[in-house]
Amino acid sequence: MPGDADKVKERLDLVELIGEYIQLLRAGSANFKTRCPFHNEKTPSFYVSKERQMWHCFGCGEGGDHFTFVQKMEGMDFPEALKLLAGKAGIELERYDAKLESERTRLLGLLDLAAKFYEKVLLEHPGAQIARDYVKTREIPETTARAFRLGFALDSWDSLSTFLSGRGHTQDEILRAGLASRREGARGIYDRFRGRLMFPISNVHGHIVGFTGRVLDPNAKEAKYVNSPETALYKKGAILYALDRARQAIKRAGYVIVVEGNMDAVSCHKIGMEQTVASSGTALTRDQLNLLKRFTSNILISFDADMAGESAAKRGIDLALSEGFSVKIIRLPSGVGKDPDDCIRTNPEVWKKAVGGAVSIMEYLFEIIPAGKDLSTAEGKKDVGNALLREIIKLPDQIEQTHWLGRLASMIQVPESVLRERLPSGKEKPERREDPSRAPAVTSRSQRLFEGFISLLLTFPEHAPAAIELVRPEMLPDEEIRRLYTHLIIRYTGVSGRAYAGDFGLEIELSPLERRLLLQGERDFEGMAQAAESEIRKYAREVRRDFIVRELARLQSDMAAAERSGDRGRADDLSRKYHELMQTQ
Ligand SMILES: [Zn+2]
Repeated sequence: MPGDADKVKERLDLVELIGEYIQLLRAGSANFKTRCPFHNEKTPSFYVSKERQMWHCFGCGEGGDHFTFVQKMEGMDFPEALKLLAGKAGIELERYDAKLESERTRLLGLLDLAAKFYEKVLLEHPGAQIARDYVKTREIPETTARAFRLGFALDSWDSLSTFLSGRGHTQDEILRAGLASRREGARGIYDRFRGRLMFPISNVHGHIVGFTGRVLDPNAKEAKYVNSPETALYKKGAILYALDRARQAIKRAGYVIVVEGNMDAVSCHKIGMEQTVASSGTALTRDQLNLLKRFTSNILISFDADMAGESAAKRGIDLALSEGFSVKIIRLPSGVGKDPDDCIRTNPEVWKKAVGGAVSIMEYLFEIIPAGKDLSTAEGKKDVGNALLREIIKLPDQIEQTHWLGRLASMIQVPESVLRERLPSGKEKPERREDPSRAPAVTSRSQRLFEGFISLLLTFPEHAPAAIELVRPEMLPDEEIRRLYTHLIIRYTGVSGRAYAGDFGLEIELSPLERRLLLQGERDFEGMAQAAESEIRKYAREVRRDFIVRELARLQSDMAAAERSGDRGRADDLSRKYHELMQTQ
């Protein structure tokens, strides 16, 4: 009887599963590739095999099956990944449930219960009239409010804590969920969120991990937005508001809209622009970009009018650019309010047009940096020129650089050649971040030959006998490859004599090398079934020749040593072996 993990693998197609996280491109008839989500790269070396139901990145060497992918992607351990995938596959788990009734699960349950409480208060409680009025003036339809599970925290010190305690949660748990604070110098706790419209914050799976509370009284002295504190579940810089509801739309649209406030995101969803997420007021972080990378590489960022050139926001954009995203800026026209939510309530068409007219970051900077500067003065030219040159330097593409240099030259009326002198030479140019420490070790020609040989065998096991005839395991100098080859020989010629390719994967635990070579074979040799046998023979002969050349060299040096030490017998022996080997070549 197959275990839970195998049942999950049987029911869930790996290509579809990975496709939910990142966009996959076809590579041949049954394989898919993409840029690796686990290391920074420009060209795709992340492969997924539909037939084998396994994945491998030729860039960083990561690879595996459904579970390893989800574990890496979600930062989960195996039981968590199993639970997630079993849920997707509609499989009831028996064995792991007790283990998973962990703190994490209990906290998720508590947070969900809190969201239910806030929701109900917003809908029904007499004390929530101010919030119901606010939602109405914000023109949020009930369906949207329900979809986002908007709620209200009463202006009370203990209504939520009391409710949760009554449902069997301890004070300690309520504290750890970030929903209450400890009373200073006294026993007990008090509600963290009071008198605020509540936005539950979900992780990418739709599990509530925290809240944002927005103050409703415009004269209130407290901060307009308050977030949950960092907890075991909620990491502010690693969450994008509404991403759980936006992921499908982002993939369909081919881009994501990033707005600043949660209310902006809700408004965008309300008018059908569901490819919108909110950064909740922070500059984009690397964690957030990694989340987005699963769905798209195109970001449209909405800047509030007063955010122009703000350095924190700009840092987020620079980070996105260096991570290989294409970034465009949505500019709100003046007179339609200060943020997307205002604009949408004024006129949704204006917002849609602003999204459609998003410009590249360079275009945007060329608009805002010179704004208000007098370009007829030397001072103005210097300021604007230097500021824009700093941006032009960062561009990775020379043609693009030249384009913007030309624009700058004519804008400040300074010859392009003068500006160009200010650019650092090619070598000093800041490179995009690629992590060299994770690149695979340089493989010698021989190593490539051996790997090609094995990957061919794994791809076309039916031709293995032709190879086994020619290549003995000891001809392979690399220990890991030799062990794998020996293993293959046993498998192909083994007692069971069972066909190999078909029941692969479920039966045997693959070594990382084997997995890599399997996918490498599919990548490099796909569609050459006709020529497979002759190709295998060719590789086998090469491997053999490689061995003989090395062996001859070894015998020669041994012979020289034997002669030096006067061991005639041994020298003759070696000489005979040497000539025998020469014959076989
Ligand atoms: Zn990789």
